[in-house]
Amino acid sequence: MIEYISLSPEDTEKVGMQLARLFPESTKKGFVALFGDLGAGKTALTRGFVSVLSPGSRVKSPTFTIVNEYVSGPVPVFHFDLYRLSGSDDLEDIGYFEYLERGICIVEWSERLEGLIPDDAVKVYLTKNDDDSRIIKIESEDLQEGILENDRLGN
Ligand code: ADP
Ligand code: MG
Repeated sequence: MIEYISLSPEDTEKVGMQLARLFPESTKKGFVALFGDLGAGKTALTRGFVSVLSPGSRVKSPTFTIVNEYVSGPVPVFHFDLYRLSGSDDLEDIGYFEYLERGICIVEWSERLEGLIPDDAVKVYLTKNDDDSRIIKIESEDLQEGILENDRLGN
C-alpha cells in the first residue's frame, strides 16, 4: 500500500498520471477501482490518468452516461461513474463485462461493485480532509510498489 498526501487538484491529477505510467505500453487491459466520497478527487485523478493513456482527451464526469470512452491512445480507456447504478442488472445493461475485456477501465464509486471487481485490479482509496488536502492510498498486487516509491510527488 502506497500513501500520498495531495494538497491540490493538480497533485491528485499527478498521482493519476503516475499510476497510468505504471501500465506497460503493451498493456491491453487493466482495471483501476476508485473508492471515496463525493468531492474526494476521483474525477481529478482520472483526468491525470487519462491524459497519459489517451493524450488530448478531455475527461468529463460520466455521471449521466455511466461510461465515457477515450480512444486516442494505443489502448482504449473506459471511465465509469457508478454513482447512479442501482444493481448488477444495470451492469449487464451497460456492457460492463465486455468493457473489462476491451481495454483499461477506471471506475468511480467502485463501492457499488462489491464482488465484481477483477482480482488483479489496482485499488485507490481517496479521503477528503477538512482542508483541501486528500489522502490517496494505492493498493496493487501486480504493479510494482517500488516504482511508485521511487517516483514520489515532489511535495
Ligand atoms: P469526485 O469525482 O471524487 O467527486 P472531483 O475530482 O470531481 O471529486 O472533485 C474534487 C473537488 O475538490 C474539485 O472541485 C477540486 O477542485 C476540489 N479539490 C480541492 N483540493 C483537492 C485535492 N487535493 N485533490 C482533488 N480535488 C481537490
Ligand atoms: Mg467524480
